[in-house]
Amino acid sequence: MKIMPNDLGRQYSLHAAEYEQKAVEVLRSGWYILGKEVEEFEKEWAEYIGSRYCVGLASGLDALWISFRLLDIGAGDEVIVCANAYIACVMGITMNGATPVFVEPDEYDNIDASRIEEAVTSKTKAILAVHLYGQSCDMTAVMEIARRHGLEVVEDCAQSHGTHWKGKTAGTFGRVGCFSFYPTKGCGAFGDAGCIVTDDEELAKKFRVYRNYGSERRYHNQVVGANSRLDEMQAGLLRVKLSHLDAFNQERCEIAARYDRELKNSRVHLPRIRPGSDSTWHQYVVHVDGRDALAEYLGEKGIGTIIHYPIPPHLSEAYAYLGKKKGDYPIAERYADEVLSLPMYNGMTEEEQTCVIQAINNWEP
Ligand SMILES: *Cc1c(COP(=O)(O)O)cnc(C)c1O
Repeated sequence: MKIMPNDLGRQYSLHAAEYEQKAVEVLRSGWYILGKEVEEFEKEWAEYIGSRYCVGLASGLDALWISFRLLDIGAGDEVIVCANAYIACVMGITMNGATPVFVEPDEYDNIDASRIEEAVTSKTKAILAVHLYGQSCDMTAVMEIARRHGLEVVEDCAQSHGTHWKGKTAGTFGRVGCFSFYPTKGCGAFGDAGCIVTDDEELAKKFRVYRNYGSERRYHNQVVGANSRLDEMQAGLLRVKLSHLDAFNQERCEIAARYDRELKNSRVHLPRIRPGSDSTWHQYVVHVDGRDALAEYLGEKGIGTIIHYPIPPHLSEAYAYLGKKKGDYPIAERYADEVLSLPMYNGMTEEEQTCVIQAINNWEP
């Protein structure tokens, strides 16, 4: 049996006719950028998340960097982010010239809130709370620290579409919640797409202007903006996806629950979910003693896995200019050597799950 780490075709085939009908509808409409599908999707996404406003954008990275740009956070400013974040989180900060300040993750793979305060300096302007792998950061602690030090909070919810912290949806705590709809994400588009949510009416308006060359009225440009528009095809297809998102999240929860129950190998440490959070299981990430050996063994059995992520941002070539070295963030560095994402996708059969479980339980390095 061949098992992919993720198989987008499976999820597609669950509702193929609905996507195809919507795609034809958009093609025939004769209107392709910022139109009725985008407007409807923005309303539906804001309602789903529980925010007042949603603004569709071209990608998750755009959601991040435009957030910092519009919050006026740039050169000379510092933004706190977890040291095991995805590289795009850090790029969202540095694209405006701001400096990322890394904080180690805790045993839940998210930022260790007890270490945030020691990273705050007179230059700190914001905390970027990344809800990694599908579970929420400790948003009670993050918001309390931000309040005490007068910091903005931006949430990166690219991997947590519909995740909750104490019953409130991720993305509704900070000033802005940023989402990516990259195809592998919970509510994945059929290309690139993203959005922000916020309760701040002025800020939502600024995003609308900024994403379209800084203009609300065509050819009347108020600021130097960007082209970060959401297109009608993606928005229309995302509306179909959204109508099934709770079911998709539920299905992945069931797969995760089965992995939790049945995976038994003393070298494979199962994901821990922080009390107060739930998880939408964007990834099922185990920490492994001998990770590379397990990945190779599973690969030989036809079971694909992915590492999220093998190089922490402070050690990536792109960020050599930050002057960080190995040993600066030992926990994040250890995680990069331990983590392994097991196959997890909508439409994964019980037989495939069994195959993964048996292979891992039988692994003896
Ligand atoms: C995917 C992702 C992004 C970037 O989103 P794109 O749409 O690919 O630009 C940012 N942050 C996190 C945590 C992500 O997983």
